[in-house]
Amino acid sequence: MLVLERAPQLRVAGAALTIQINAMQMLSALGLDGAVREAGEVIVSGRIDTHRGRSMATLALGEAAARLGQSSVAIHRAALSKILASALPERAIRFDAELVGFEDDGEGVQVRLASGEALRGSALIGADGIHSRVRAALLGEEAPRYAGYTCWRGISALPRPRGAGVVGQLWGPGIRFGFAPIGPEATYWFATQNAARGGEDGGDVRAELRERFEGFASPVAELLEATPVESILRNDIIDRPPASKWVRGRAALLGDAAHAMTPNMGQGACQAIEDAVALAEQLSAAASVEAGLLGYESARVERARRFVNRSWRTGAVVQSSNPLVCGMRNLRAGLSSDASLMAGMMWAWEVDAPQLRAS
Ligand SMILES: Cc1cc2nc3c(=O)[nH]c(=O)nc-3n(C[C@H](O)[C@H](O)[C@H](O)COP(=O)(O)OP(=O)(O)OC[C@H]3O[C@@H](n4cnc5c(N)ncnc54)[C@H](O)[C@@H]3O)c2cc1C
Repeated sequence: MLVLERAPQLRVAGAALTIQINAMQMLSALGLDGAVREAGEVIVSGRIDTHRGRSMATLALGEAAARLGQSSVAIHRAALSKILASALPERAIRFDAELVGFEDDGEGVQVRLASGEALRGSALIGADGIHSRVRAALLGEEAPRYAGYTCWRGISALPRPRGAGVVGQLWGPGIRFGFAPIGPEATYWFATQNAARGGEDGGDVRAELRERFEGFASPVAELLEATPVESILRNDIIDRPPASKWVRGRAALLGDAAHAMTPNMGQGACQAIEDAVALAEQLSAAASVEAGLLGYESARVERARRFVNRSWRTGAVVQSSNPLVCGMRNLRAGLSSDASLMAGMMWAWEVDAPQLRAS
């Protein structure tokens, strides 16, 4: 197996993400869950407040962890990439290797790199993100769909603002702030606001964010204050409507290339991890590469579709600026019992983790 990565090296900067229970179960099948827990922060509870700081819902996650045998973990992206890369054989990743085209001749796939080099393999897995070249070749060129809000992310030096493993979100009209400790020394945060597509920040993004989030309760200002300006990222939130075909012949899509979703459920990378494990399972059991890829597609398409659709719908509600929708949203959050919140997550978290370790 060869991983072709166009970047010159493994990611060292960037923000963080949550690896939820379902993906932790997959990582446990690969023997990597312990390393992820150690490098990140186990999430023990979450709270949703209004932007002024009135608590609307809290959720303790101990019961889910006890029932499912795993906890969700917040981790820096660079730390996760390092753990995943270190599980591969030496020289399995080739950096500075940008795929620019490929041909499937029925017996194998020939890949062309930007350098002009050609490589041959028995299958091509396009895990090349939301702007995937492999997807464009399989399904046609199509622009991603803009969700109507933009997102800033950063890593703050303010540790554990509400305690170890406690994550939080503060919801205002058309504007939201969320945070998760990623260890004893740093906290990941994200901030979303409804905006026209393609907006840009002026000189001092942190000062602009302080203004945008003025009136938000603690710990928003404190987290922003302790964030190095140069580490703040901004992305418009985009996804792709679900596709039912991810495979053609010996080429297949995986991760955002297959099912890019808005980040409202924090499941994009988790679903990519589920894809990878399902793909390995199906390929090792199938009589041919083509059959293995089709088995992977049918094992995964429907579940991924649910995440794309639910993430989109969740975003439409939590990011709404309509006072009526915001009122209903807050009322609903406030009336939710632990049991109903938990039930809403269980379908996402309950998965059968295959026994891959020995294979
Ligand atoms: C604001 C925000 C918050 C998020 N939070 C979470 C979260 O908490 N939990 C979660 O699970 N998910 C989260 N996600 C989603 C998550 O980031 C993505 O789903 C995940 O990164 C997808 O992984 P991927 O490997 O499919 O694609 P990518 O991460 O985009 O990786 C694609 C890789 O392919 C390489 N590449 C691209 N084109 C080529 C080419 N032609 N040749 C060679 N290499 C190429 C790129 O350099 C890159 O390394 C979030 C997303 C956003 C925007």
